Amino acid sequence: MVDKVYLVTPRGFCAGVEMAIKALSWMLKIYDETIYCYHEIVHNKWIVEKFQNNNVIFVENPDEIPNDAVVMLSAHGTSPSIETVFNEKSSLTINSVCPLVTKVHHEAKRYTDKGIQVIYVGHKGHDEAIGAIGVSPKNMHLVENIDEVDKLNIDGNAALLAQTTLAISEWEPIMISSKNKFKNLEMPRKSDLCYATTNRQSAILDVLPNVNTVLVVGSENSSNTKALVKMVESKNVKAYRIEDTNDLKNIQIKGNIAITAGASAPDHVVFNIINDLKPIQIVDFNHKDESEYFPLPKELRNNVKLISSFLEFFNQSEFIPEKVNGISNDKNWSATEALNSL
Ligand code: SF4
Repeated sequence: MVDKVYLVTPRGFCAGVEMAIKALSWMLKIYDETIYCYHEIVHNKWIVEKFQNNNVIFVENPDEIPNDAVVMLSAHGTSPSIETVFNEKSSLTINSVCPLVTKVHHEAKRYTDKGIQVIYVGHKGHDEAIGAIGVSPKNMHLVENIDEVDKLNIDGNAALLAQTTLAISEWEPIMISSKNKFKNLEMPRKSDLCYATTNRQSAILDVLPNVNTVLVVGSENSSNTKALVKMVESKNVKAYRIEDTNDLKNIQIKGNIAITAGASAPDHVVFNIINDLKPIQIVDFNHKDESEYFPLPKELRNNVKLISSFLEFFNQSEFIPEKVNGISNDKNWSATEALNSL
């Protein structure tokens, strides 16, 4: 029996995920053809299946797309060489990378152009790490733990960058060990761990004294979801990652619990889980409000406007995508509404 569920805010969709979901939804509205998306648009099973059921094919390699396909690149960032191949092969490629991932790519380029070797803290095989290392593969070193920092052999100056979605508890020990090993280590003034990652983690830390268990809603391949679980476990509190209500069958929970969600998990899944838990009380636990907003990719906005003008010219105003969903009013249109409109 669950007594209280602390419903933690902020949770779920961040500004980068909002933007990427809306961008792919717009692509489906303005192009008739199948949209090919490089990597999962965001790391969430429900969202990926939703798009697959609406004429999106996810690919892991440019070889998988036909010539002249319409392509979207995912929120996690794409290495420059892969983006070039997509641009050459497709009729149109729109990049829905999160601006905070782009910031890390710019930092990597800035350091490596100056001859500085970059230590990149991230998860091997994760789409974001693959894209970032692709900025300058010969001059960047991917590390996951302190042991790998110890083994690094770098001549000259070094800089330290990070995947945006790390747990603070995994980032800090590696940062300290790198600073100790490389005396002139350079780092960006503002941390690479993004606002959404740190806000969700500090919110969960804040709620911990009230609960005995934390449920983190999100998919297995979602780095920031796993980071939330790690963060809770590092404080010796039980944490479970759950995809949806089906996973409740495998766990025993009682007493007071907290529920949060990774940055790519839709909120209806959180509420479905709470409904199944049937707690005596739901407590809104608001750690912080978020107001970040990232505009849609510029080329996509221009294309929607162009198509709208074209339809208006031919008196087809009832079909104008801009009129139906308001691309100029994008800030007030949520990713949840975009998904519901498919
Ligand atoms: Fe961008 Fe952070 Fe969201 Fe990743 S988790 S998409 S870096 S805001």
